[in-house]
Amino acid sequence: MIGVLALQGDYEKHTRILKEINISFMEIRYPDQLNNIDGLIIPGGESTTMNDLMLRVNFHKPIIKFSQHKPIMGTCAGLIMMSKSIQNNEHIKPLGILDIEVNRNAYGRQLNSFMDIVNIEIEDQIHQAEVLFIRAPKINKIGNSVNIISKYQNEIVAVKSGIHFGFTFHPELNEITFLHHHIFSNKTKYHKENNAA
Ligand code: GLN
Repeated sequence: MIGVLALQGDYEKHTRILKEINISFMEIRYPDQLNNIDGLIIPGGESTTMNDLMLRVNFHKPIIKFSQHKPIMGTCAGLIMMSKSIQNNEHIKPLGILDIEVNRNAYGRQLNSFMDIVNIEIEDQIHQAEVLFIRAPKINKIGNSVNIISKYQNEIVAVKSGIHFGFTFHPELNEITFLHHHIFSNKTKYHKENNAA
């Protein structure tokens, strides 16, 4: 069972991807629900708002604890929340799950949103995907524990750190399923076949 943090943002798009690849999921709104899941997705949205909603129900510590054993995938605002530090930030309290420093909305106004093809390396294979960047952050610095799995125009756009993954773009908005599949498919016991009868 995979959880999708459903406080704010495009969480519903992530649930659609999980449905498409037959991975069972639940929307997560309270910290105690983390006990019922094997992996977590922090969606895109607005990190300042997401942070406020997370603080309201004390989500930070339980998610950090969860990350010690179970995988977390973050897209865009989700990656910002997973970072260790945020440039020029007085407001958001990042989770520190990925040892990266990010700069929010770093592509500037004209480029607030764009779609392009990126190459993503998963288990020594390069996958091409056309993805959307929406008011995306840039990753300024990475620590030793972090592997770069995609670069776009010299910017780091996807990282892996142990069992955790962060993307500055939105695979969930272009019906890209292989990333969710790779990160979570063996983390859940539910498959459609098992449910066929
Ligand atoms: N700009 C947003 C933020 O800083 C992220 C945008 C997104 O998730 N697409 O939180």
